[in-house]
Amino acid sequence: MPGPGYAFFGDEERDNVEQVLETWSRTTAAHSYPLGDLTQTRLFEQAAAHRLSSPYCLSVNSGTSALLTALAALGIGPGDEVIVPGYMYSACLAAIVYSGATPVLAEVDASLTLDPGDVRQRITGRTKALMPVHILGAACDLAALRRIAGEHGLLMLEDAAQACGGTYRGRPLGTFGQAGAFSLNMFKIITGGDGGFLLTSDERVFQRAYGFHDHGWFPYRREDGPGDRLWGLNLRMTELTAAVARAQLGRLDAVLARTRGLRDELLEQIPERDGMVRRYLHDADGDCASVLVYVFDERADAEAVAKRLGTKTLLHSPKHYYGGLPELPALAAPDGSSCPFRQPAEVWRRDGWRAGALPRTDDVLSRSLALTVGLSDTYLGADFGVNVFSGGDEIAEVAERFRETADEVLG
Ligand SMILES: *Cc1c(COP(=O)(O)O)cnc(C)c1O
Repeated sequence: MPGPGYAFFGDEERDNVEQVLETWSRTTAAHSYPLGDLTQTRLFEQAAAHRLSSPYCLSVNSGTSALLTALAALGIGPGDEVIVPGYMYSACLAAIVYSGATPVLAEVDASLTLDPGDVRQRITGRTKALMPVHILGAACDLAALRRIAGEHGLLMLEDAAQACGGTYRGRPLGTFGQAGAFSLNMFKIITGGDGGFLLTSDERVFQRAYGFHDHGWFPYRREDGPGDRLWGLNLRMTELTAAVARAQLGRLDAVLARTRGLRDELLEQIPERDGMVRRYLHDADGDCASVLVYVFDERADAEAVAKRLGTKTLLHSPKHYYGGLPELPALAAPDGSSCPFRQPAEVWRRDGWRAGALPRTDDVLSRSLALTVGLSDTYLGADFGVNVFSGGDEIAEVAERFRETADEVLG
């Protein structure tokens, strides 16, 4: 079972999809897409903006597109540096690379998210933006990151792909910077099969994002309007995706209630102990609880527990750990010929990509183990745990196995 929302698929998703197919077969409405106010995409955007407390929402065809569109909308491009954590998803780096900007990796803190202290060390005259990633469903240190962004005049683009519905100090994630990007792929909190969206409170950012995602049109396909005329691509969400995503959005609270309930039961049965604590959270109440992460004092202990449970530590998270992305430095061939943007090798800071470049990130990931709560994703090291339909017996069994294994290893 991939993400928790996927497990909740039901009649509403089916009915919405049927409605789309019905409309298409009855009329020439496909023609009017994406103009109508009653299209599934528009209805989804309105519902998402409302649920996540944002003035503007734009649906797109993936979380990666949401990041790319947001970067374009924010005017980030060649010559700009974007600071991004070494534990993220490769799409974060790819979106920066394809915008022509340069990703600069920074350490994560005890919450496994962008470390504000290390961000300060990485700021240069070319730094344009921060891209904090609310990894594994939980918020970054947004207060500190906002302070730094304010002090240095930097933009902030939140990657909330894994944290839809999560909050920080009561406010939805994705609303703290100039833009927030979300994914609706199958492994996320809620899903449209694929798809994504972005939030912004800035009308101009929305206007530019709209143009970028739909052939340079002004919002809702007007020929003209206030703002910037852009070249755009086609990164639109389809009506069929929006039909499913809209139904899923209606389930967001139920999904989060379930994962949080399961998490509480697991926490109660797997208390912290000598040598093993829960991952630090900057806002425990706002955690989406798609996984439950324990951090061991010693790397060898985390590895031994993981091995006995048939899972892996977070250091072994393909596509999420910078040190496991060998193909990226390889892109920066000395003559630049293999790089999509032909950046000279030095701007890639090639040494910064090798495992060991972020020792604190390597250390904490090597000591961390994620228990599946509602999300099962081997790429995230979440391979052992419960699923959203697990009952009391199964929860107790999983908790006991984890607890006893930790006790055996830690003594
Ligand atoms: C899933 C994910 C993305 C990309 O989303 P897609 O919809 O798969 O393109 C970006 N960032 C993070 C942190 C993710 O987990």
